Amino acid sequence: MEKHDQFLMKKQNKNLVLDIIKRNSPVSRMEIAKITGMSPTSITRIVNELHEQGFVRETELVTSGVGRRATLLDVCGSVLYTIGIELDKFNVKIGIVNYVGEIIAFESFYRDAIERYEDTLKKLKKNIEELIDINNIPSTKIIGLAIGLPGYIDYKNGVVKVSDQLKWKNVKLAEDLKQLTSFSVIVDNELKMKVVAENFMGMAKDSQNAVLVGIGSGIGAAIILNGEIYRGESNNAGEIGHTMVNPTGNVCNCGKIGCLATYISEGAILADGRKVKDLDSIDDVFDAYRNGESWAVNLLDRTSMYIALAISNILSIYNPEVIILSGNTIEKFPEIKEAIEQKCDLYIWEPLKEKTKIVYSQFSNRGVVLGAAIQAQNKLLDIE
Ligand SMILES: [Zn+2]
Repeated sequence: MEKHDQFLMKKQNKNLVLDIIKRNSPVSRMEIAKITGMSPTSITRIVNELHEQGFVRETELVTSGVGRRATLLDVCGSVLYTIGIELDKFNVKIGIVNYVGEIIAFESFYRDAIERYEDTLKKLKKNIEELIDINNIPSTKIIGLAIGLPGYIDYKNGVVKVSDQLKWKNVKLAEDLKQLTSFSVIVDNELKMKVVAENFMGMAKDSQNAVLVGIGSGIGAAIILNGEIYRGESNNAGEIGHTMVNPTGNVCNCGKIGCLATYISEGAILADGRKVKDLDSIDDVFDAYRNGESWAVNLLDRTSMYIALAISNILSIYNPEVIILSGNTIEKFPEIKEAIEQKCDLYIWEPLKEKTKIVYSQFSNRGVVLGAAIQAQNKLLDIE
């Protein structure tokens, strides 16, 4: 074997062992050897190196069945940090996340819907620096940052092609923010970031086939297929908000007629509600439902029907092990869960029903921040 190849293989093995410890911790050296098929001697050497570099620590002694004692290994959370950011129309969230996926610092600030791109970036820089300072995080331990936002994203080049919510078009977000902060920057669609968190430590932990659906001001999905994010040709796979559900229905902001989003997005529900009553926000619709006002009951019954219809179609196409529902509508209006489940029971094809779990995200409003930070660790960490 060439020297260069040897070096590369060593490096790959080391990254593999670290990944296994991270995903399976606490784990013994013997178990790692079993999973990787590497010799116990190689595992011991690699673990020693990882220990010296601060990635891995020994946790506890356990006695295995045959009376042998084994030390379990764990990863050190404080060995490095990444910054996860969620950008949307009115709100920016920033979190500093350690190597075991804990958000150790978090803040959010208001964004004006018509704010200029440059101004949002300047605010971001200021707030990131403050958050690092206040929490005494050594900058040298921060290996990069990642941003999740709604829209069509060229994730390879870190370019926001179109984001209707932020009113951005063809902006080089990764490059521009790197120049401002000097951190490496990754950019992707918000739900694709969120599904990374679900797959690493959430409701789809270690799942090979899972779908996350976001239901709120925007409607979309992110798909894990065979253990990887499924992106399609242009990173737009999962844009279920523009699947057509009624060709003679409402006009969508995309220019088509009868898109799913025109029935279940917050804006759509609110617009229909306003035909009946003066409403300030979507919360007024939920309140009216709780007061038993028939228009609100009808409107949200229709919403749950279209959500169940979307779930049923997704299951037929991807046959995932788990489908995770998330977003503002689910968070603020938990009553809808039962209605969705009842309708799913009627709509979903029997052979798909028995193997699929319909679950709800547990990350509340921090899923994108967490997923982005974890994705930054996945993509930017390259240990020698
Ligand atoms: Zn549309």
